[in-house]
Amino acid sequence: MTIIQTPKELQELLKNETRSIGFVPTMGALHHGHLSLIEKSIKENELNIVSIFVNPTQFLEGEDLDKYPSKFDADEKICKLAGVDILFYPKKEDMYEEDEIKVIAPNIRGFVLEGAMRPGHFDGVLTIVMKLLNIVSPTKAYFGKKDAQQLSLISQMVKNFHMKVQIIPLETVREDDGLALSSRNIYLDKVQRKEALKISSSLKKATQLVMQKTLDVSLLQEEMLKVLKPLDVEYVAIVSRAFIPQEKVVIGDSIILVAAKLGTTRLIDNLWI
Ligand code: AMP
Repeated sequence: MTIIQTPKELQELLKNETRSIGFVPTMGALHHGHLSLIEKSIKENELNIVSIFVNPTQFLEGEDLDKYPSKFDADEKICKLAGVDILFYPKKEDMYEEDEIKVIAPNIRGFVLEGAMRPGHFDGVLTIVMKLLNIVSPTKAYFGKKDAQQLSLISQMVKNFHMKVQIIPLETVREDDGLALSSRNIYLDKVQRKEALKISSSLKKATQLVMQKTLDVSLLQEEMLKVLKPLDVEYVAIVSRAFIPQEKVVIGDSIILVAAKLGTTRLIDNLWI
């Protein structure tokens, strides 16, 4: 596995590449969720690239940028063992200049839910993903459904800007008890870890109710909030795949999403119905 640190070096290396390229962008502190994307990429492509970059522009003032877990040595081993060919590990100064052109999230999809709670977050995400996709020029890029709104906006960006990459969405990987894997789970103490289960339980509860033909969104939200009590819930929402709020669940076109805080740790999870 080759470790590359600058966009210039990576583009030089890939200049005459004719093989199919699979790409998995991450912020590191890799877990089995990331690994599922990497493994899928390796199955489907001849050359596989993973990036690790904790992108400062997607963190808001007061968020966890400074304490975001950094585990480069472990991440390097995980990528090597998985069979990754190139690990791209750029520095902030090689990714950004002063006073840059940015990608701006769309008004509707970009400013609900995560976009409303974290204004500017998606501008940061879309801008860095655009940069990474342009540097790597992958055939396919792999993203988790765990970050559903991010995935939706990236797919829209690729469509709106006529980019050639194919975006491949993959299912959320969970702990045995249902907690969605996240690099932020390590912040949780024992009690919070147990409480965090209420997030996936509330999603399970909603699915059960939907299977029993309860499709009314306010009713489902009410039932989910009961399960989530006493967590500090930021939102419980049910939207279409295009992130338009729904009054009734539409099987095949609904996503149920939750964001909640345990102490200072903010977790998100969702289920696609
Ligand atoms: P991050 O390092 O948090 O930026 O995540 C990098 C990629 O891994 C994104 O596409 C995430 O959606 C995806 N990802 C994060 N957690 C999971 C998970 N539990 N299951 C599947 N994919 C995930």
